[in-house]
Amino acid sequence: MQNLHNMRPLEPNKALQYRGRFAPSPSGLLHFGSLIAALASFLDAKAFVNANGEQGKWLLRLEDIDPPREQQGASSAILTTLAAFGLHWDETELYQSQQSQYYREILSSLTQQKLSYYCQCTRGQIKSIGGIYQGHCRSANHQASGCAIRLVNQYGLHKFNDIFQGEVVCDQALADEDFIIHRKDGLFAYQLAVVADDIAQNISHVVRGCDLLEPTARQLTFYQTLNASFLPCTTPQYGHIPLAITRQGYKLSKQNKAPAIKNKKPQPALIAALAFLGQSPEPELAGASVAEIIQWAIKNWQRSRVPNKVEINID
Ligand code: GLU
Ligand code: ZN
Repeated sequence: MQNLHNMRPLEPNKALQYRGRFAPSPSGLLHFGSLIAALASFLDAKAFVNANGEQGKWLLRLEDIDPPREQQGASSAILTTLAAFGLHWDETELYQSQQSQYYREILSSLTQQKLSYYCQCTRGQIKSIGGIYQGHCRSANHQASGCAIRLVNQYGLHKFNDIFQGEVVCDQALADEDFIIHRKDGLFAYQLAVVADDIAQNISHVVRGCDLLEPTARQLTFYQTLNASFLPCTTPQYGHIPLAITRQGYKLSKQNKAPAIKNKKPQPALIAALAFLGQSPEPELAGASVAEIIQWAIKNWQRSRVPNKVEINID
């Protein structure tokens, strides 16, 4: 568990360090869409070599902060699958369920600095005013019980330069919203946990699927808020890879019950994931071992070949 007061930002004058991560939620097993995200984030880290000849690091974080959505045994199944696919992570994996004290410290520092507030508005109320929260409770001074906590959004950052997608412009109204950082049901919100842990794990590059393009705007604002107040931190670079979509137009996701990838014979799925990422796996790889495929993929990884599309149909 991190202590807020011992945290240091990346040291800018050290040889550039690459620290990437894969951050699955154990709400189900890994499917082809998750494999693509895991592989892209792994390859982007491992293909990076800094001035001291060191490869990037690739970290693993289990985002297990939503117990009602968690599937029993999914965390350990995810670890087994990643290992079977030759995606070996550096350092010890981090479980968000172990980070509550650290998240609580962030929340209370935000409260002390009047950068957050309690909100009583219901989903229905927000829907009736057009779906975007307008800061109704900002100065209401509600008390804790049964309330969500929102961030005072001072920045509304909505543009960023994406490693794969180029300039991304997010919806300004969404980016301006005072978003929820602690839920009414008492759970920490994804936006708080993801940024807190990207800081805790000193992440320099976030590579993940395009379903997280819009949330990136909020994460940029959250970084800026923390950095300007009590937690010195450096915003990572973001890269979003296309989503795999079925013929019916569904994104492969745990909620949509996308089939789990099989650990027994990882090679064909690995090769398909490389092809999806535009890396043109050579035909000889069909008979290669998992380790050989991964070695080939690290050596030949080219960011510029990743399609800069938000979605790709896979069947
Ligand atoms: N846990 C999130 C998910 O599985 C991903 C978070 C992230 O990569 O920022 O969709
Ligand atoms: Zn409100």
